[in-house]
This record gives sequence, structure tokens and C-alpha cells, in this order.
Amino acid sequence: MKTPHIDSEMTELVAQLNHSHHRQKQQIADAFYDGLFLISKRLDLVLLNQKASSYINPAKSDAPVLEQLEIYTQKRNQIPFELTTWFQQLSTAENKTNLISPLVWVRSFNGHKNQLVPVLIKAYSIHSTIDKTENYMILMQDQSLQIQAEAQIKLMEASYAGQFITDSSGYITQPNYTFSAYTGLSTQTLSQMTYIEWLKKQVVLRVPFDSVMHALLTDGRWSGEVQLTPSEQMQYHAVLSLSMMTDSNRNIEHFIGVLQDITDIQEARSEIERLAYYDNLTGLANRTLLNNKVAATLENTEKSMSYSGLILLDLDGFRMINDTLGHTIGDQLLILVSQKITELSAEQDVVARLDGDEFAILVNEVSQDSVEALTHIMGLAHKIRHSIDDRYTIQHRSLHSSASIGVYIFKGLESLSLADEIIRHSNMAMHEAKNLGGNQVYQFEDKLCSAAQHRLEMLQALNHSELDDEFQLYFQPQIDSEGRTVGMETLLRWFHPALGLVPPNDFIPVAEEGRQIIKIGLWVMHKAFLQAKAWNEQYGTLRMSINISPIQFHEQSFVELVIGLVKFTQVNPNTITLELTEGVLIRNTELALQKIQHLVSLGFQISIDDFGTGYSSLSYLQKLPIHELKIDQSFIRNIPENTDDIAIVESIIQLAQTKNLAVVAEGVETQEQASFLTTLSSSLLIQGYFYSQPVPANEFESVFLKTPSEHQSLHALKKQSGHLGNQTTH
Ligand code: C2E
Ligand code: CA
Ligand code: CA
Repeated sequence: MKTPHIDSEMTELVAQLNHSHHRQKQQIADAFYDGLFLISKRLDLVLLNQKASSYINPAKSDAPVLEQLEIYTQKRNQIPFELTTWFQQLSTAENKTNLISPLVWVRSFNGHKNQLVPVLIKAYSIHSTIDKTENYMILMQDQSLQIQAEAQIKLMEASYAGQFITDSSGYITQPNYTFSAYTGLSTQTLSQMTYIEWLKKQVVLRVPFDSVMHALLTDGRWSGEVQLTPSEQMQYHAVLSLSMMTDSNRNIEHFIGVLQDITDIQEARSEIERLAYYDNLTGLANRTLLNNKVAATLENTEKSMSYSGLILLDLDGFRMINDTLGHTIGDQLLILVSQKITELSAEQDVVARLDGDEFAILVNEVSQDSVEALTHIMGLAHKIRHSIDDRYTIQHRSLHSSASIGVYIFKGLESLSLADEIIRHSNMAMHEAKNLGGNQVYQFEDKLCSAAQHRLEMLQALNHSELDDEFQLYFQPQIDSEGRTVGMETLLRWFHPALGLVPPNDFIPVAEEGRQIIKIGLWVMHKAFLQAKAWNEQYGTLRMSINISPIQFHEQSFVELVIGLVKFTQVNPNTITLELTEGVLIRNTELALQKIQHLVSLGFQISIDDFGTGYSSLSYLQKLPIHELKIDQSFIRNIPENTDDIAIVESIIQLAQTKNLAVVAEGVETQEQASFLTTLSSSLLIQGYFYSQPVPANEFESVFLKTPSEHQSLHALKKQSGHLGNQTTH
């Protein structure tokens, strides 16, 4: 079907009709896509084609044909278009052979759609030379497509996206303004270019060109991120969408391109990336990026077979600085430290801040030679340690800092395959450096793994332990110079079904870290209070010493819990000594002092355990209402040979005398030590293997506790039976 659009076609159509018979006329009309009516001079219908019949209102079939059409000047307000009046111009005006209407809207009664169609009405006089008839031809040309296209072009022009349409051979015929602006190419230049030429000239694709063409030609569309490079100075990130328009026979009619500038989005993306991979405070890489870099190094070194190192660093006592001087100063310190580390590391090393005061340096592929790599990496670690061990001036304050450093050296294939594990190993080494007192470098060793594994097992076991089933209190006597048992220290024993007997020096630090010590400590106090009450009722006054962990002591509700237990067990607090270490007083000194005062006011006595090993300043002793000092085993072990130790023990005894404090010497293993200590002070109490190892309650009771009437000197007893309590091995 044809649609005559240009005048020459129109003239030809009119000529054909002029020279044809009626039957031929119908055929010609039927061959037209547009509505075509032929009417007589008296306005009667001669013929019409299929499309024209769709404009006839079936409800008005009795009226003259022109009145059967429903035509409006506008689509919205439906003002009727007076077709008959308009048409009369053709018969009345002199020499007029054709007429063209403005755009009007005709109702189509096609099927049930019943909609208004935009048309141009054209009327022509037809003088048939064959049958000598004089008729009018009326053509109603559907303008829907044109209107749509115009609307689309308006939209395109207004769009922020660059858009173009090509002709069927791919030449860019209709670029919009934005497209010209993006590409820096005029409409004129673009019209000489196919879109493929433009792609090759200005667009950097992320996928092969062939795959774009394949998608476009088979699926009819392609879309993807591209980089647009109109000039060397100008670059855009964009999303390009191409689509192919075909007719119903799949003949290509146009290609359409839409170009959406995403430079802003791309920038936002890199900002997000910066946030995701870099530390805000120092600008160093963060943990995620370090992880990625370690993984990449592992992959590379698998081929290169060279050694790399991960140095992990944690500032000593940073929390204290942060807590006491404030975060601003803490942050400043971190920045200064990060600068020192960056200065010492090489360009290709990755320096990261993991969290808080933890930093890492990945030293990449140093050498294939292990000694060379070790020398370099350890050298760097020591340099960093030395540099950080310094005074820092921040906000007119001068403060000191140092770092504990762990080093792990690894090589692709022969070492572990996970970045996580690499970081974990240097972390263990760093913790070991901390444990050894800080401000030092420690290189990872395999034994750290089994130690860590053991700690983990303990931690899990502690979480699931049944206190009553697995834990038991042991007791070790404290004996005066007359050989009388005046008290005992309770020492905890853990019998785990799988791990066996776990010594308190192993599990207490783990339980403190995991905070299970709070529950365990409460259990210990409960049992010890009951035992103290029972023994006191039966055997007269005896002191029971109980170890209190700093973690337990610093619990907010510690004093309330103790008071609750006193009420519950009915123990007399005057018979209980709480053993605290000097470490308790380092944190929250003021609050700690208040707690101690409160406990003392309830009747408890306070003993300072491991005395002499902790705090060098004795000034705190002045403030504290304490009752007893326990001389640490390390000073007892080498007396009477070691004169330094003797001097220390003597000065502690002297100090105690001036403050009227009791003194216990613990770790006394030999007769010699016991006698020597007794000569130094007759009021000194002795605790140690010399008298007994810690033993369970029943054994303690049968060996050391006598009702006042059956009391017998231990010295006498020892003479009869040798060492006591040695039958137990705990
Ligand atoms: P500590 O409070 O200093 O306890 C003294 C430790 O020295 C005990 O070790 C004891 O068995 C041991 N000992 C006693 N006499 C001698 C001796 O003549 N020679 C030697 N070499 N050692 C001797 P134990 O029972 O293994 O406890 C170790 C540490 O575990 C304790 O040190 C204490 O800090 C902690 N601990 C034990 N029980 C508890 C508890 O119930 N709660 C808390 N928080 N800590 C506890
Ligand atoms: Ca103790
Ligand atoms: Ca002790």
C-alpha cells in the first residue's frame, strides 16, 4: 500500500483516476493506505476504500456521506470541524482544483477502538476523461506517526541525555543538542558519519566491539558502560544504549543511540571506594584493602617464589592515653605514628591502619633469598619500633609512646594460602611482643599457634563448663612461727573432662579475657564463704583468703554481690581476707579506693598479693585501708643465698611493721627458708610446699584442723611424719 506524500505522487494519482473506469477507480482506491472517498458534485458517495469506511459512523448511515464523519478541530475540547462548509470552497472558488485542511481529528469506528485520529484532509477535483464524470476526491491522511515523531524529537531536544537517530545505512541524521555537545561534533559533521565510525573514533568500550554488534543485530539492542573521549582533555564516563528499529520484514530503518553521562556517578563511586578501602583519619589503607593486598601478594609470590612480610604493630598503652587525655589527642598521636611508619616504608609497601591503634605494613616480594628477606623485613620492623619509641608533643603536652610489633614472613606456595591466616600469625607475634612487656619486635614462631589453639580450646571449654562438676576449691595452710594453722588460701582447680587438670595460671587469664571469671569468681566466693563459716564454727577462728581477679573487682556490682553472698551464706566477714593485686589500683583508682573502703567497713580484710612485683610506687599504700602484704614467691625462692632478695624481704617486713600490717611469705619450700624468715620476723606467716601443697577440703581438715582440745604443735607433728600433704600432687 502506498501513501502519496509528495505533490508529484498526488498529481499522478489524480491523473490515474481521471483516466480510469469506475471499476478501476475502486481498485486504485483500495490500493491506498489513507482513507479515500470519491463523491459527486452533489456530494453523493461514489466510492470509498477500506480505510475511509472506518471513519463512517454506522449509526448515521442515512445522512449524506460527509455528515456521517465525525471531525474535530482539536482533540481535547472536541469543537466540530465543518467539513461541508470547508469543502464548498472547492466548488465556489474559481480555478480551485484542490484544498488542504489544517490538522483535524477524525473519529475512527474501526472495531471497538473508537478513537480520534489526527489527519490532514485533502480534496481534489476529478474530471474523468473516460466516463466524463465530474467528481471530488477526498483523502484523509493519517498523521499519527508524524505527530509521534515530532513529539519524540521535542523530547530528544529537551533531554539531558545525548541522543541520535541514524538512517537505514547508519548515518547519524538526527543528533540532539546534548549529543553534539558531548561529542563536540556538529550536526553537519555527524551527518557524514555512521554511528560505527563515531563509536570507533570516540568511544572506548569495555567489551569487544564484535560483541556489541552481535547483540545489536540479533537482540536489537545493546547497552553498557563506556568511556567517551571527544578530546584528550575531555573524558566522560557514560552509559551508551543502542537499539535497532526494523520494519515488519526486519529491514533496518534506523539505529537509535542514547548516551547518559555518568561521570558524577563514577566519581561518587570512587569516593565510595575511597571510603570502603581507606582509613578516614590517617588516609592509610584499611583492613579490607590490606586483606586484598595480602591475597594478591600470595597469588603473585606463588609464581615469583619470593618472600614477603607482614608487620603488625600495636601501640603500648594507647587506651590509657585515649581514656585519660581524650580522643582528640589520641587521634593526633595516631596521625603522627602513621606518618613515621609511612616515612620508613618503601613506596611499594602497603601501610594500613586496621583499627584503633593497630597498624600493618605489608612488605611485598622482598627477595627469593630467605636470609636477605628476613634481614630486610626485620630491619624495617626494628627501625619502626625505634622511631615510634619517642616523645610526642600534642596540644602543648609531651607524651611518650611505643609499639609492640609482630612479624610474619611468608612465601606463596610453601606457606598458608589464606590472607586471614597471614594476618592472624603476625597478630599472634604482636601479642607475644606485648606479653613480653611491649616496645619490642617479635617474629612469629610455630609454638604461638599451639598456644593460641590451646587458649581457644580453653575459652570454649570455659563457656560450657559446669562449675559444680568441674571446679573444686583447694586450700593451702598459712602457719605461724609456733606451727599453728591460722588460716588458709583458697586456690581454684579445674578438672576438665577432656583437657584434664588445667592450672589456674593457664585458665584464669583466658577467663579474664572472656569475662567468664566474673561467674567463676562468684562461685569461688560462695563456696569459700560456706567453707569458712563451717570451719570457723567447728575449729574456732581461722582466716580464709580468697583471690579476687581485677576484672571481677572492677565489675560495677562487685560490692553488692559480696554483700548478697554474706547474707546468703551467713559468713562472718571478719574471718575473710580478700587478696587483690596491685594492678587493681591502676585503673579507676578513685573508684577502686571507694570499693575497698566499703568492703573494709563491712569487716573484710584486704591483702596485697604478689607484693613487690607490681607498682613501683608505694604511695598508694598510704591511702589504702589494707591489712596484709603477701611477699611474692620470687623473693623467697633464692633466700637465704641471694642478699638482694633478703634486702627486699627485710624492707617489706619493715614497711609492714610501720604500717602495722600482717605479712605472709608464700612459696616457702624448705626448712631453711622457713627458719630464716622466722628469724627476720616472729609474726610472719608462712605458706608454701614446705608445709603443704594446696589440698582438697577434707584432706585439709584432717591434716590441719583440730578442735582446740586436740590441738598439737605442727612442729612436733612434722618431726614424726616428715612433710605433710605431699601425698597430693596438685
Ligand atoms: P597466687 O595467688 O600467687 O597463688 C599462689 C600460687 O603459688 C598457687 O598456685 C600455689 O599453688 C603456688 N604455691 C604455693 N606454695 C608454693 C611453693 O612452695 N612453691 C611454688 N613453686 N608454688 C607454690 P596456683 O594454685 O597454681 O595458682 C596460681 C594463681 O592462680 C594464683 O597465684 C592466683 O593468682 C590464681 N588463682 C588461683 N585460684 C584463684 C581464684 O579462685 N580466683 C582468682 N581470681 N585467681 C586464682
Ligand atoms: Ca593469692
Ligand atoms: Ca601470690
